Parts: sequence; C-alpha cells; structure tokens
Amino acid sequence: MKPAPFDYHRPRSLEEALVTLDRLGTTGTVMAGGQSLVPLMNRREVSPANIVDINFLVELSGITHEDRAVRVGALVRHAELERDAAVRRRNPLLAEAVPHIAHAAIRSRGTTVGSLVHADPTAEMPAVLVALGGSVELRSAAGGRTVPATEFFLGANRCCAAVGELAVAASFPVPPPRTGTAWLEVARQRGGRAVCGVAAVVTLDTGRRVERATATYAGVGATPVLVDLTEVMTGTRFDDLARWRAAADEGGSALAPADDLHASAGYRRHLARVLAERAGRLAAIRATGA
Ligand SMILES: Cc1cc2nc3c(=O)[nH]c(=O)nc-3n(C[C@H](O)[C@H](O)[C@H](O)COP(=O)(O)OP(=O)(O)OC[C@H]3O[C@@H](n4cnc5c(N)ncnc54)[C@H](O)[C@@H]3O)c2cc1C
Repeated sequence: MKPAPFDYHRPRSLEEALVTLDRLGTTGTVMAGGQSLVPLMNRREVSPANIVDINFLVELSGITHEDRAVRVGALVRHAELERDAAVRRRNPLLAEAVPHIAHAAIRSRGTTVGSLVHADPTAEMPAVLVALGGSVELRSAAGGRTVPATEFFLGANRCCAAVGELAVAASFPVPPPRTGTAWLEVARQRGGRAVCGVAAVVTLDTGRRVERATATYAGVGATPVLVDLTEVMTGTRFDDLARWRAAADEGGSALAPADDLHASAGYRRHLARVLAERAGRLAAIRATGA
C-alpha cells in the first residue's frame, strides 16, 4: 500500500523546524526514523497532510555523557546507543534493553526519542526511561519544558507532547552507587514486540541489604507501570529468594493487563511475576558488583 498524498518539509535548523511546526499546527507531523510512522501511513491508519522531516537537524544528533545522565538527542538511532561503550558502562539498563528492539535494520533507522514519543505500550525505551526516573526535553516556537518520564506517557501511543512541540532529547539518569539493574522480556519471536518486559532497579546498603527496589513493566498496561517494591524488600539480604518471590507477587497484584491477540491477561500477569522475580534477583546480584 502507499500513503495518502502529503507535503514534505525539510527544515535545515531547529529554529526553522519549530517555526514550521508552529505554522502547520495540527496539520504538521514530525518524521524521525520513520520506522513507526511510515508503516502507519502506508496502511493509511494515519494520513498526515504535512511531514516535517527532522533528519537534517544536526543540533539533535549525538549522545552526551553528562555527570549524572546519558542525554540522547532526537536523532540518535537505537543502533548508536547499542554500539556506545560508555552507555554500556554508565547505563547498563539502557544498553541491555536496546538490543531487544526489533531487528538490526529497524534499530539502524529508528530513533530512541521517536520511540518515546510513539509511546507503544510494549516498547522497551519508555519502560527504561520510567524505571530510571528520566525525562524528555520538549521545544516549541513558544519555548521549552522538561517533562519527567512519569508524566510523559498518557496512554497507549499517547504522550504529552502538544501540537507544535518537538522532543529534542531524553535524559536517562545514571544509576547511583551500589545499584544494579536488569531488563528481561518475553516476546513471541526474537525481535518481536514484548508480550511482557520488566526493568528492575535495586540499590543495596553497605551490608548488601536492599535499600530500594522497583520493577517497571512494559506490555501490561497502556503506559509503563512502575511498582515500588522497597517496602517488601527493604532490609532483606540481596539473595533472599523467598522475599524476591513475595515482592514479585506483590508487584504482579498491582497490574491489570488486558487480553489481546498475542496473549491472555492471565499469561501476561504470570510473565510479569516470573520476570520481576528474576530481574529483581539479577539486579540485586549486579548491585553487589559481583
Ligand atoms: C517491524 C517493526 C518492529 C518493531 N519492533 C519494536 C520493538 O520490539 N520495540 C520497540 O520499542 N519498537 C519497535 N519498533 C518501532 C521502532 O523502535 C521505531 O523506531 C520507534 O518506535 C519510532 O522511532 P522512529 O524514529 O522511527 O519514529 P517515527 O516513525 O519517525 O515517528 C513515530 C512517531 O513519533 C513522532 N516523533 C518521532 N520523533 C519525534 C520527535 N523528536 N518529536 C516529536 N515527535 C516525534 C512522529 O510524529 C510519529 O508520530 C518496531 C518497528 C517495526 C517497523
């Protein structure tokens, strides 16, 4: 299938892009990697009148290693994150989740920030951003704002970017000392969308007891679901298997997954429990530095 006719705009600077988006209003649609937008257009599920191609805005490229975060520009492709050795060292959760996104060809074009804006409930990057307490920088002709991950995702394929706003970057905080992270997911085939994915973030005290633990789930709600497991786990030795099982049960009981073509709600809830237990234990072991 082919998309419906549209006008194509290729701004050469961020300034020009923001003015163009402002002028086009509701008729303007940003195109980054096109890996989600173009299939939707080809299937005529969306028919934007104007495409604003941001691929020539050099201001939006690059990964910046800031003191406490990895800042990812809007033109950074998933594959760039995957190849970045400093990302693997400083932000292992991000590095561990990226290879689960689709296939190499899609990761070489699709952008990480585009994935956040697209806000697919099964996508890896939104859950990772929420798990790490990250944020998204939005710019428009009227100014800019930074939105915390917990406020960014509004529903399935819905984020808080308003008409005329461009997401220019996302910040993925670097986990604090004695913190371990883990991403685990189950998909129907390698590179397929997650039926369920879990990001665990665990901080230990100096005696290897849990100080803070969270599980963030993808694929079990319209947006990523963050469950704080600290109350159940606090003071527990990092390798207390029974407590991790209890925490995962507690996390699972906070979820309300739905049935769909790919899995029943019951199977998703089962996966959420099993993956949270394993991811929590793995993150805790990693937090010991072992
Ligand atoms: C076969 C297939 C399998 C896939 N599997 C997975 C998967 O397993 N996990 C996963 O996470 N993703 C998956 N994807 C999606 C992929 O990760 C996309 O790259 C990503 O969702 C969107 O990034 P993009 O740069 O291609 O955005 P685009 O397709 O260009 O845009 C997507 C949407 O976001 C908006 N947008 C993009 N960038 C910006 C911006 N900077 N500011 C404002 N609005 C913006 C666009 O207007 C559009 O509405 C898959 C895609 C395909 C085709």
